[in-house]
Amino acid sequence: MTDYYKLSLELLRTILLENQYNFWANWMTEDIENWEKNQNTEHHLRAYGGMGSFNDVVIGNQDSEGLWQGRIFGMLQSLAYGLASGNALEDIFSRINSASTQISGWRCQDCGAARINAIDIERFVCANILPQLFINHLKDNKLAKVLDTNKLLSSEEVSNKKATIEQLLRRASIEIASDNNWLWTCPKCGSSKVCSYRWEIINNETTIIESDDNLEINKP
Ligand SMILES: [Zn+2]
Repeated sequence: MTDYYKLSLELLRTILLENQYNFWANWMTEDIENWEKNQNTEHHLRAYGGMGSFNDVVIGNQDSEGLWQGRIFGMLQSLAYGLASGNALEDIFSRINSASTQISGWRCQDCGAARINAIDIERFVCANILPQLFINHLKDNKLAKVLDTNKLLSSEEVSNKKATIEQLLRRASIEIASDNNWLWTCPKCGSSKVCSYRWEIINNETTIIESDDNLEINKP
């Protein structure tokens, strides 16, 4: 049987080394040794909590690849932490697999114009595809595969999902911005009353509705 705990520690260490987090990579090495020697997870659990702890490690830049890398790292942390705490694999899976339906963007409070940045579409697609993919790969004993983010990003599943979301946004007259910049003024009416805004994508990605925690829009 696969030793998922050891596997998650090894993958965490690989990512940490790639990102020059040598301190934490060495920490994982010690965790692996403790596990192999006497099945002890206490040192790993000590990595979490408090300032400058293992939870604060940031992986990936603010681009699409970085987004996926950061999320994979977070899921590996959840897996390692959950197993170290003695949680059942299925419980950890259901925690990892709580996909979000929310997507963020911008809205002009004066004219109602709406815009979503490309990176937020990416974030939505990643949040919706990656958890199940992670779990499937883990079950098939191919978890090391998810570290290949380049391959993931160019997969058919990812590009199809992205295309579906983009089509849905266009139908809802939400502009898609190719840049990932902060929006200061409305591109339609020039108003500076632009606010961040949230929507929910529901019914198998066929419907987009406004979240109920948004600022009021004074449409003309
Ligand atoms: Zn406007």
